[in-house]
Amino acid sequence: MDLRDDLTPFEAVNYFFHKAADIDKLSDAAIAVLTGTYRELRVQVPVRRDDGSLSVHIGYRVQHNGARGPYKGGVRFHPSADLEEVRALASLMTWKTALVGVPFGGAKGGVQVDPTGFSQTELERLSRRYFGQIAHIIGPNRDIPAPDMNTNAQVMSWFMDEYGRRRGHTTQIVTGKPLALGGSEGREAATGRGVVQVMDRAVEVRELGVPRDLTLAIQGFGNVGSWAARLADEKGYRIVAVSDMYGAVHHPDGLDVPALVAHVNESGSVTDFAGSEPMDPAALLTADVDVLVPAAVGEVITHHNADDVRASIIVEAANNPVTPVADAALTERDVLIVPDILANAGGVTVSYYEWVQNNQELYWDETEVNGRLERKLEKAFDDTWKFYTETGEAASMREAAFALAVNRVVEAASLRGYL
Ligand code: GLU
Repeated sequence: MDLRDDLTPFEAVNYFFHKAADIDKLSDAAIAVLTGTYRELRVQVPVRRDDGSLSVHIGYRVQHNGARGPYKGGVRFHPSADLEEVRALASLMTWKTALVGVPFGGAKGGVQVDPTGFSQTELERLSRRYFGQIAHIIGPNRDIPAPDMNTNAQVMSWFMDEYGRRRGHTTQIVTGKPLALGGSEGREAATGRGVVQVMDRAVEVRELGVPRDLTLAIQGFGNVGSWAARLADEKGYRIVAVSDMYGAVHHPDGLDVPALVAHVNESGSVTDFAGSEPMDPAALLTADVDVLVPAAVGEVITHHNADDVRASIIVEAANNPVTPVADAALTERDVLIVPDILANAGGVTVSYYEWVQNNQELYWDETEVNGRLERKLEKAFDDTWKFYTETGEAASMREAAFALAVNRVVEAASLRGYL
């Protein structure tokens, strides 16, 4: 596949897949199966607004590959969630679950909507309608949704309730639920916790020194970015810049993260945080820091800004934040990129533990969940690092991660007899 700067998100993921297919010496038939998707459902989602009008949105659920287990992946409410983006994110879930070794396939859902102006009742109607429209391909052993951008534990509660109305109470139908409805201890922080864990390992293998000497910039202050900031701050890293959809703030000595979290809870944004200076959000990506953590939307590091990135480590908390052209340029400059399918896999890993606890109707405490998460990610990081540094076949951690994941999916699909 050619390296171009105008690839769609799905083409971009498939570009990385093709590198792995070369390493794993896949057949043309296997490539054809895995660069496509198993099932794509497009639904119309009309939503009654509080003023009596009707807004009509398009929703998708894409199931990419189910060789290793039930389809699994989040649902996002975002204007950019078109079919190509949802396909890309569904395929990333296939590779992510395979890399960390949780027994799921890959799926993703999306509704093309900007929910920022929605009231709670409008958000509830949107959530219930969308879930009702896709429910016939969802099931506790078939496809299990979870939160993603602009969806959260409350949205999962509505999803579960909507499903249960017709089919009976089924906690295992979604993950990322509130604790009161069968959620797991540690799920909310899990993605951020995993991000910080793999960042620690990246800092270690690159011998960058101790956290207090290292500076971080974090793009995005939603669930993933804010938990990554809190947990990195607890470890002593200096978080010098953060941004959200409204703007960015920085402080050269490090932001007071607990105070910043309180400010965001109160005001809804990182902007105007006392004790910080405003900064251009685009400049955050090229700030002079040791570690850059994109934790927002996809395709933010591109051929436009890759050469200006000054961090020596990028930890991909977001899905698909670095385009293939940028990835090649950064790898050439020896910037270490911890790829999304490893860096943000903590979320789906604890989703798996939530599903297990729902199935067994027996619940673990947070120490148990966090310990299991840590061991899973430790192994995934080590496997990837070993493949990257010892086989000489992968030019980057991303190539190593994809090569391992693709191999596992191909093995499962072959054993089932369809590859
Ligand atoms: N949306 C998250 C992701 O992209 C979590 C998915 C899940 O828990 O199923 O990995």
